[in-house]
Amino acid sequence: MPTLKDGLYALYLRKSRADYEKEQWGEYETLAKHEQELVALAKREGYPLDKPYYKELVSGERIAERHEFQRLMDKVSRGEYAGILVHEVSRLGRGNPMEYGWILYLLERTRTLIITPTKVYDPRNPDDARALQMEMFISNMELGNIRSRLVSGCRASAMNGCFIKPTPPYGYDRARINGMWTLVPNDDAPTVKMIFTRAAAGVPLGTIARDMNNSGLRTPSGGFWTAARLGAIIANPHYKGWIRYGYYRRDYMPDGFGIKVKYFTDNDCIYVKGLHEPIVSEELWQAANDRNLGSPPVKRSKELKNPLAGLLFCKKCGKAMIRFINTCKSNGNKIEHYRHAPFCDCKARGANMHLVVSLLADALESVAQECETKVILDDDASASKSELEAVERKLAQEAVRLEKLMELYFADAITIDEFKERRSKSEELSDQLRHRREELSREKPSPKELAVTIREAIRLLKDEGVSAEAKNAALKSFVERIEYENLTVSMKHPDIRLHVVLRG
Ligand SMILES: [Zn+2]
Repeated sequence: MPTLKDGLYALYLRKSRADYEKEQWGEYETLAKHEQELVALAKREGYPLDKPYYKELVSGERIAERHEFQRLMDKVSRGEYAGILVHEVSRLGRGNPMEYGWILYLLERTRTLIITPTKVYDPRNPDDARALQMEMFISNMELGNIRSRLVSGCRASAMNGCFIKPTPPYGYDRARINGMWTLVPNDDAPTVKMIFTRAAAGVPLGTIARDMNNSGLRTPSGGFWTAARLGAIIANPHYKGWIRYGYYRRDYMPDGFGIKVKYFTDNDCIYVKGLHEPIVSEELWQAANDRNLGSPPVKRSKELKNPLAGLLFCKKCGKAMIRFINTCKSNGNKIEHYRHAPFCDCKARGANMHLVVSLLADALESVAQECETKVILDDDASASKSELEAVERKLAQEAVRLEKLMELYFADAITIDEFKERRSKSEELSDQLRHRREELSREKPSPKELAVTIREAIRLLKDEGVSAEAKNAALKSFVERIEYENLTVSMKHPDIRLHVVLRG
C-alpha cells in the first residue's frame, strides 16, 4: 500500500453506460450507492473529503462533455488534491487513448493518488502506473464493444421496419406495439396530407407556409412555418410508409480536447418499408417531390443592386435600410424601395430608392460647395504648415537640452534625482510634440480635392448606365455613413432627410 498523503481528497461520481442499462432493469440509484460506499471508505481510512463532491450527471465519455471532470482535473493540475476517490478507474476516463494519456500524465506529475474500494494507486509507482494504464486501456476496448453492440441492435430494428429515433416526424407519435417501436398518425396528420396535396398541385411552398401561419397553425416548437420546413417534410419518406435510418450522420472532428461536429447525409443508409401506416400514398408523395421538375429555380444574381449598400442607416434605430422590390398592384410595375428588414421593431417609414438617391446627390452637391468656399475663406493648409515647422524646431531644442542635461550630470553639476526629474519632464514634452507632429503631417485631402471627388460621385449617381457597384465604391471612398429619416406626413410632400457623415 502506498503511503497516505496529507491533504484534501476529491470524490468523483459518474454513471457508466452499463449503469443506465442496469437501471432499465430496475436497479436504481447507482450514483447514490457509489456515493455511500466511497464516503464510508473515506471515513474508515481517514481521507478528508472536499465538498461538494464531483457528480457527473451526463453519460458522455469524452472529456469535452464532462464538465465536472474538467473542473476536477483543473484543480488536480494545480496540485490541490492529495487523491481522488472513485468507484473504479474506468469512471475517470475511457474515451480515446489521447484523453486517458493526458489524465495519467497529470496524475503522475502532481502525484495524485487514485483510491478505489479495492485498491490505492500511486501514479509515481511504476507498477501502479502500469496497472492504471491497463485499466483504462481495457475499459476503452470494452467501450468499443458496447458501442458496436448498441449500433448493431439499432440497425437490426431499423431493418425490421421499426422507428427507433427519439423524435417522431410531424404528424406522427411514437408508440410501442408488440414490443416494436413504430409510428402512429396523430391529429396533425391531416395537415401533412394537405401540405402534400397542395404542393403536388403546384402551389409554391412559401404560399402554403403563409396560409398555414395565417390560419394560426404553428410548428411543434411554436414557430412559424417556412418554405424550408415544408420542403423537409415533403422530402421525408416516412410519410409514405418507409423507414430511413442512418441518412443524417455526424462526424466528430477532434479539436484539442474539444470536438467539432460535422453533419452530412449518407445515401448508403437503411431504406425499407416500415411497420407504420403511411399518411400519403406513394403517388402523392412522388408528385409532391417532382413539383419543380421542368422549371429549375431561378438562380439569384450575386450582382450588387443597391448603390447605398452598407451606407444607409435609420436615424431612429441605427439599423440598416435595405433595398426591396415592391410590385405595384394596379399596373404590375416593379419599384425599388428602401426599408427595414421584415419583423423589425422600428417602424421607420421606407422610401423610393430613386428618390433617396437623387436627394443624396443634392445633399452631396451642397457638401461639395461648402468644401470649395472653405478654400477661399481661410487657408488651413498654410496654417498647419507653419505649426508643423514650429513643432519641429521645438523638438530639436528639446533634444539639445537633454544632451546638455547629461553633460551636467556626468560633470557632477546636478544630482541623480535632479537629473531624473528634469529628464522625465523633457521626455514628456517631446512625446507631446511628436504626437502633434504626427497629427499635422497626416495626409488629408484638401477641401478642394474632396470637392472634386464628391462631384465625380454625383456624376456617377446620376448616370443610369453606371452599375450600382461602381456607384457604391465611389461613395464609400469618402462617405462613412448616411443617416436616413422620413418625416413625411402627406404623401404629396415627401419629407426625407439625409445626414451624410464623411470619412476622417
Ligand atoms: Zn429604424
